[in-house]
Formats: sequence, structure tokens, C-alpha cells
Amino acid sequence: MKVLVFGGAGYIGSHVCKYLAQRGHEITVFDNLSTGHAEAVRWGNLVQQDILNPDAIEDCFRQHGPFDLVMHFCAKSLVGESVTSPEIYYRNNVVGTMNILDAMLATSHQRIIFSSTAAVYGNPQQSLIDEQHPRSPINPYGQSKKMVEEMLLDYANAHGLDSVSLRYFNACGADPEADIGESHQPETHLIPNVLKSLVNPSQNVLKIFGDQYPTADGTCIRDYIHVNDLAQAHLLAGEFLFNRSGAFAFNLGNGSGFSVMDVVKAASQVTGRHIDYQIEAPRAGDPPILVANAHQAQQQLGWKAEYTSLEAIIETAWRWHQNENF
Ligand code: UDP
Repeated sequence: MKVLVFGGAGYIGSHVCKYLAQRGHEITVFDNLSTGHAEAVRWGNLVQQDILNPDAIEDCFRQHGPFDLVMHFCAKSLVGESVTSPEIYYRNNVVGTMNILDAMLATSHQRIIFSSTAAVYGNPQQSLIDEQHPRSPINPYGQSKKMVEEMLLDYANAHGLDSVSLRYFNACGADPEADIGESHQPETHLIPNVLKSLVNPSQNVLKIFGDQYPTADGTCIRDYIHVNDLAQAHLLAGEFLFNRSGAFAFNLGNGSGFSVMDVVKAASQVTGRHIDYQIEAPRAGDPPILVANAHQAQQQLGWKAEYTSLEAIIETAWRWHQNENF
């Protein structure tokens, strides 16, 4: 397949590019490198442009296409920032995506895989969340992703544009060969912060946000899913769209919950090091428990996560963080 990957220089996008290229697919990356890394674009050519520039998107489709499939990972994704600057989130995540969809229509491209998130569900009403759970986001980031999901449904009905929205739970881990990994500035995610506190303890003190949640050890529970398992799901979702019409959505998670303290203990075991931490106030907008029911993706896409143990996931991330080169 020929695949155009918006946001292919970022954490999840670059892992998907490597995964696709290893299976013989041809990649073009469209990325403005605002949060991604040029060093992570190794499995296809880079078109360094912005999704807020509709002409640049259309030119890319015309010059480098036609493509069999489009994947879209470009997004602003910091929950706190989305609360203080919602306009950035609606512009990039909603208007930017609309620019991509309109360029697809103008150039007769029909299939897109969209990066959605568990944040579309808001505060969960049950501990295992399936796709039918009400979508009531509690911040502009989640709201912007929900709006795109709605837009995809309307574009499917009106224009026959076919899509799969993949609602990621907690993406984590790194390429097992440690060519690429998770590198955000600032880093807000738990596993990289735990590992950074070991690599560079004087600059990175691990903070644990809240230990009085209604969970067994008082820290929040999340569903950690390896980035290569997400990559596998993207390819399967693309293949799924070749036989279907419409707008679909699937959860991607392991279906098991681990607390922040479980992560700290597993990281200590994998690295053989003691991990120091400070307990801080809870972070605004963090629900106590978020765990996926991902049966739909397993049944309809034939997806099966390979990395089911927290230790195996952290091991891949640890290999990357010890030699982090961008
Ligand atoms: N967390 C933490 N310290 C950190 C980063 C995260 O205690 O340095 C907690 C956070 O409050 C949440 C969990 O770890 O309970 C997972 O957070 P992350 O940002 O990795 O993912 P999220 O679930 O917010 O998407």
C-alpha cells in the first residue's frame, strides 16, 4: 500500500511508519515538526508542512499520491493546555483535520485512520469502558477528538469517505530495536517520567499525582498499551476499510489496569534500581480508573496485543531511554 501519514514524525506516528515499512508499505510523512522529530522520519520521505495550510495538503496529495490509505496522528494533546488555550486545540485538531478531509475529497482519496482517544469518554461510569459508553469529554482536548469523530460520521454519510477512529488508552513503550521512542517536550506521561528520573535523577524528580484515589493503593489506574500493538491495529484497520464503507470506532487497550505504584514497582524490577518519588496533589482532570474493553477491535479487526505484561512494555522503553538520541 501507499500510505500518507500525517504526524509521522511524532511518537506514535513514527512507530507506525516503521511497522508499515517493515511490511513492505510505501510511506510519505506530512509533518510540521512542531513536536515531532526529523530524526524519527526514516521510513519514507518527509513533506514538512502544516495541516493548517489547505493548499500544502492538497499539493501533497497531488504530487506524492495517489495513496491507498491516509493515517492522521497530528494533534495537540496536552489536557492542561487544552483547558487554558482551547482555541489552539479546536484550530489544530478540528480545523486541521477538516483541511485533511476536504483535501481528500478534492483529490478522490477515500480512506482514513484517525487517532482518537479514551479522553472522548470523560469520567467513566463503569470500570471497563466499551465503545458504547457515553462520550462526554471533560476537557477541550477530548472534545476536539469527539468533534472529529462526529465529522467523520457526517463525511461518511454525505461523501462516502470511509474511516476508522482508534481510541487509544495509554500508549507507551518503544521500538524494541530502540531506533525510536517516546520523546515529548515537556514530558507529561508516567512511564517516560519514571525512567527519566533514573537516567538523570538530578533534573527529573518523579512526582506522583495523588495517592488518595478510591483504588487499592490510592493511585490512579490506567490501561497501558504498547505503541507497536497500536501500530498493528492501524494496519489491520486499514485492511478492514478495504471491505467496508462507513465511519467506525474501536478502543485500543490491553483490558487490564495498573496503578501508578504498579508502574513504579515494575520499572524498579526491570531496571534493577530503586526509584525515588514525591507525592504531589492530584492532577486536574485525571479520572481514578480508565481501562478498555477492546473486544470489538479483537473481533472485527483481528487485533491481538503482543505486549501484555507491564514489565515487557517498560523493558522496551528503558532500552530507548538509556540511549535516547533525540
Ligand atoms: N502520573 C504521575 N506522574 C507523572 C505522570 C503521570 O503520577 O509524572 C500519573 C497521572 O496522574 C495518571 C497516570 O500517571 O494518573 C497516567 O498519566 P499519563 O499522563 O501517563 O497518561 P493519561 O492517563 O493522563 O493519559
